[in-house]
Amino acid sequence: MDVKRAGVLGFCMGVRRAVDLAEAELGRTPLADVYSCGPLIHNPQTLASLEKRGLVILDEDSPVPGARAAPAIIIRAHGVSPGVEADLRSRGFRIVDATCPRVKVSQNTARALAEEGRCVFIAGEKNHAEVKGIAGYVDAGLPGGKDGGCVIVGNAAEAGQAASSLFRRHPGAKTALIAQTTISEEEYAAIAEALKKHFPGMEVKNTICGATRERQDALRKLCGEVDAVVVAGSRESANTRRLLSIARDCGKPAWLAESAADLPPAEPPPFKKYGVVGLCAGASTPDDVVEEIFRALENIPNDGVYSYNAYSD
Ligand code: SF4
Repeated sequence: MDVKRAGVLGFCMGVRRAVDLAEAELGRTPLADVYSCGPLIHNPQTLASLEKRGLVILDEDSPVPGARAAPAIIIRAHGVSPGVEADLRSRGFRIVDATCPRVKVSQNTARALAEEGRCVFIAGEKNHAEVKGIAGYVDAGLPGGKDGGCVIVGNAAEAGQAASSLFRRHPGAKTALIAQTTISEEEYAAIAEALKKHFPGMEVKNTICGATRERQDALRKLCGEVDAVVVAGSRESANTRRLLSIARDCGKPAWLAESAADLPPAEPPPFKKYGVVGLCAGASTPDDVVEEIFRALENIPNDGVYSYNAYSD
């Protein structure tokens, strides 16, 4: 099977940095003393390899400190709220902050907007670690220790409802919008438009990560050159799932594969009918996983004559 890679794919700067920090810490500290607060990144193979070297992944909501004195804890690339960080410090952990610098910008922006007395809308996934961390920065920035200063919206419909509800209660509210770093530009624009119907003066910050955008743009370009798409990466990874939906929005049959074992079988068709398959990968997918899937795809025999566009079921 012919396989074409996206122009940009795999580890982004923030994920690479988090893995490098963890490896450095594992290399210099007795193994059992290195923890991570929640999964360091969203990739099962990388986490398994770090765990084999001694990393212990704690539940981010109720971390249990290790028995030894001053254990190191690595804060994941997605960041944590100021409350969680303070809790870790109070438990005697030595913090190794692997929060992606771009997520740090979002956290500081959220705090500054709250300090201006704004209700901060966050466009993103309610239960995603990055969004929960940023929401904690809004709370930390609220004057007078009030809480509840942020509203998380997942799409334009939710944004419309949330804005209408806030407008009924506080028509003169000062508002702002920031984005989870991995949201698509189109979705963010639609959410901003829905909110601005009620709050036209809303401050909109573009906190979408360039690395995410580059991978999404490269995939859109790839979709014009292939018959089907495989997205390499974890189901837990928001930016990987986003790539999958972009490929499908581009009209391509698309699959998500955490490893070569997830690829659809060559037999029975339809997988083998595709002449050229595109391969892209989320920002937390390591090179060796991309390579493994690339080689497995190359080894799938195909009919060689059909292209998806010409084939009709
Ligand atoms: S996708 Fe962007 S924000 Fe997320 S870890 Fe990578 S560089 Fe940082």
